[in-house]
Amino acid sequence: MPMPSEDWVEHGSSRQRAWVDEAVRRVEADANRSADTHLHVFPLPSHWNIDLYLKDESVHPTGSLKHRLARSLFLYGLANGWITEGTTIVEASSGSTAVSEAYFAHLLGLDFVTVVPRRTSPEKIALIERYGGRCHFVDAPPDMYTEAERLAAKADHHYMDQFTFAERATDWRGNNNIAESIFDQLSLERFPVPDWVVMGAGTGGTSATIGRYVRYRRHPTKVAVVDPENSAYFPGWATGASDYATGMPSRIEGIGRPRVEPSFVPSVIDLMIPVPDAASVAAMRHLQRVTGLCAGGSTGTNLWGVWHLVARMLHEGRSGSVVTLICDGGDRYRHSYYSDEWVSERGWDLDPYTNAIEEFLTSANWNPPTAG
Ligand SMILES: *Cc1c(COP(=O)(O)O)cnc(C)c1O
Repeated sequence: MPMPSEDWVEHGSSRQRAWVDEAVRRVEADANRSADTHLHVFPLPSHWNIDLYLKDESVHPTGSLKHRLARSLFLYGLANGWITEGTTIVEASSGSTAVSEAYFAHLLGLDFVTVVPRRTSPEKIALIERYGGRCHFVDAPPDMYTEAERLAAKADHHYMDQFTFAERATDWRGNNNIAESIFDQLSLERFPVPDWVVMGAGTGGTSATIGRYVRYRRHPTKVAVVDPENSAYFPGWATGASDYATGMPSRIEGIGRPRVEPSFVPSVIDLMIPVPDAASVAAMRHLQRVTGLCAGGSTGTNLWGVWHLVARMLHEGRSGSVVTLICDGGDRYRHSYYSDEWVSERGWDLDPYTNAIEEFLTSANWNPPTAG
């Protein structure tokens, strides 16, 4: 490799820095215009002396908690000098991450291309394209990641790589991350420090941020991660095998992965709860019947874990609070989780799970169906 010797080597121009300054301002201004997301109260029987809160991440401008991730990944890329004027942003995602990243790319006037499986639903493609994103199709879903790397090897392309960078792009100490926001919003409650925060893992970034934050702020709060069928996270966590792989896709959108991703931080997780997919859908629909809040499937997974932990607190005679997330809204799932036809096509029987939740909330008896 030739060594520069006589001349100064200078990278970057003041024009480039001015572009980055303006880009950071635009991302920060977007946050500044946005309100914080609500912390709803879920009504539990008052004599239980347990309070349940739902952090509503569906109200972000792009409809899911991925709005936070996309903002963090863009700021991380800008601050690292990876994203500059004319950079094409590349991602491998057919879901909420692509929608939110397309939004921020558009805000900065950058091209955005996401690698998606060919059988991605037209609704999702439309959502990505609404923000000016472009979809690049592959036939086999596992090829998404190598194809994104291949595209991003071109000059002026940057692979966001959510599954690697989610855990490190967010400032876990504070800076209005989701954990700091939850604790601030709880400050006037009767149990302001929750016993549990319950969350699923897609990238694992959100559970990593919450787990690190509670240690840093010396809160006794524990982090429970719920995991759907087919996911490698629960078996990987339980056995300590960071290379665990099931090779099978999750059917609960946004959470559960065929392999343990680099962004998943098992050491900050106090408990993992495997959740049957039918239980996730039953809990999601129950939420809508009781509160009118229409959420996605991963929110149902969270709630099934919550019912498990609230039952445990009742059993131990503990009062206190539990927090979970509404990860996205239900509109995106009208033709899937909210469709009886779609659900029965998958052979899912929701009734035993629905009955278990209803019985629990009326009589405090928690008798979840045993795995079949
Ligand atoms: C990404 C996602 C999650 C999981 O969040 P991570 O921080 O990636 O672990 C949960 N639900 C939905 C709908 C998601 O899009």
